[in-house]
Amino acid sequence: MIVYATHAGGRYLSMEASLRERPEGKRSIYVNITNDCNCDCVFCLRSMKEMAKESSLWVEHDPSIAEIIAELEKVPWDYVGEVVCCGFGEPLMRLETVLGVLRYVKEKHPDVSTRVNSNGLGELEHGCVFAERFAGILDTISISLNASNAERYLALTQSRFGIQSFEAMLTFAEHCKPYVPNVVLTVVEKVEDAEEIALCRKICADRGLTLRVRPYEDS
Ligand code: SF4
Repeated sequence: MIVYATHAGGRYLSMEASLRERPEGKRSIYVNITNDCNCDCVFCLRSMKEMAKESSLWVEHDPSIAEIIAELEKVPWDYVGEVVCCGFGEPLMRLETVLGVLRYVKEKHPDVSTRVNSNGLGELEHGCVFAERFAGILDTISISLNASNAERYLALTQSRFGIQSFEAMLTFAEHCKPYVPNVVLTVVEKVEDAEEIALCRKICADRGLTLRVRPYEDS
């Protein structure tokens, strides 16, 4: 499924099914950019490969911008408040596709908010700084902080870039600040204890970043 809405209980529904279940009101819709990821987080559903492949979020191939736009053209936009680029994997593995989707949304539906959910390792992945390319097309970037230090971060994410990943993720968040109105770092409730979450709060406060503690199944 390339475009879907999320419903209570961690369910992913097509827009048609979402409107059947909740006919009124605007909702966030999610664009599944890729299964691919440069991490292998210990808590990621992708790591349970069989479950992942049976999930409706596993895409058979990475959808092209044209395929994604064809899906978005079918969406009843009166019921959409936000478009989120996400994935079963890491959306910024496909930076140009994400930028294409964001541009499309802002050109065709300027009142709809845009968000990218990311692990924040895009600069390591692409070997360049690209945050300025989000200017005017991205309202919110949600970046997984995961932990309060580089060692714990690496143990949790098993990033292919190793120990430099934690600092690179925070630097990416700082690079986004001038260009993206809302830069939000997240930690997952229950994965982290209260002490670890307090340390994460301090890291964000010191860098002028916002922390959100999110439930495990939240998107
Ligand atoms: S960064 Fe996200 S998609 Fe990638 S392994 Fe971690 S939880 Fe899964």
